[in-house]
Amino acid sequence: MNSESLFTVALGLNDPWHVLDIQFDPDKGQIDFAVGFHSGAKFSCPHCEAVQQGVHDTRKRTWRHLNFFQYQAFIHADLPRVRCSECGKTTQVKPPWSRPGSGFSLLMEALLVVLAKQMPVRSIAQLLGLSDGQIWRILDHYVDAARAQEDFSSVQSVGLDETASRRGHNYISLFHDLDQRRLLFACEGRDKSVVAQFVKDLEAHNGQAENIESICIDMSKSYVAGVSEFLPEAEITFDPFHVMAIINKAVDQVRRQEAKTEPLLKKTRYVWLKNKENQTQKQQELFNSLPKSRLKTARAWRIKTLLQEIYQQCQTVTGAEQALTKWYSWAIRCRLEPMKEAAKTIRRHWNGILSWFDGHLNNGGVEGANSLIQAAKARAKGYGTARHLITISYLVIGKLTHLPVSPFTTRYGG
Ligand SMILES: [Zn+2]
Repeated sequence: MNSESLFTVALGLNDPWHVLDIQFDPDKGQIDFAVGFHSGAKFSCPHCEAVQQGVHDTRKRTWRHLNFFQYQAFIHADLPRVRCSECGKTTQVKPPWSRPGSGFSLLMEALLVVLAKQMPVRSIAQLLGLSDGQIWRILDHYVDAARAQEDFSSVQSVGLDETASRRGHNYISLFHDLDQRRLLFACEGRDKSVVAQFVKDLEAHNGQAENIESICIDMSKSYVAGVSEFLPEAEITFDPFHVMAIINKAVDQVRRQEAKTEPLLKKTRYVWLKNKENQTQKQQELFNSLPKSRLKTARAWRIKTLLQEIYQQCQTVTGAEQALTKWYSWAIRCRLEPMKEAAKTIRRHWNGILSWFDGHLNNGGVEGANSLIQAAKARAKGYGTARHLITISYLVIGKLTHLPVSPFTTRYGG
């Protein structure tokens, strides 16, 4: 077998396509494959599929392929156009190694998609000598194509959360399937219209707004308004993760206020925010040394801890309601303004907070999804645009079933 025949097989080419010539330039770090077709070859019309059409003319094109050892590899070909005797149109033949309009082979694109699930796009670009924009265009294409085939007809429990693509800027809203733990939909913004956009996307994927029985959200007014308007059948549940975030913020406000006159509280922020079991040894020693009977911050912390215990221990809505009622009457009388404000917020969202205890939205939920989003953010790090974060979130946590698989486990058409 000569090297042209060898590479014809290695590139997965079938008649009439074959490798005509190979130019290898080790100094340039590059190998170039000239691919062509037998003279007199006939092609099907890409437009109407009429077979055995003659070649009208050709156009030169180049595609980046998987590396050949440590060298960059390129495929070059004169792509034929056929003038069809059936439909009369002149159309470019689709090469078997690439999708129309792409400057990459299918296998190279598959590799990029697989890598982007595992590592930051910026690193892939550097590793393979590509521009970031080239990679993002490919990811956008495959994510869109894969999402188009997703089926959301079984979705019943949804979690809605927001995240910033850059610190404090460009918010995106993410809708998760809480049963299958996958990202369903993400879009820019965090106003009530995001719920309308989600419903539209859900319906475009065989889902129905009426099927959504429960939705887990934070206590933002716009989300509550959006759900009431566009998912009226869904029972609203407020996620413990967000409820605890409100209480933690209140504890921190108490601490900051008290720290102005109490030097013992210097550098103790995380001592109060962390759960005891997560404190470092140093934090634990500091925590144990603080005079907890007289500190306001300690009183706030005990109120927070009791709420946490309610979440950990209550098994039923009735049990939780009794415990939460006691908790509320303690918190509202504690003479610590931030804690009283937090208690009032909880009072206003009473039913949604209690509905978490009826069991069908238990652990993980939005909090679990949130840790996945952090993984997605790491892949899109350094870009800061909402669109890139959305694409990478679908790729990393969308559980999309129609993405290209690794080129190292498949062949063209395999
Ligand atoms: Zn035709």
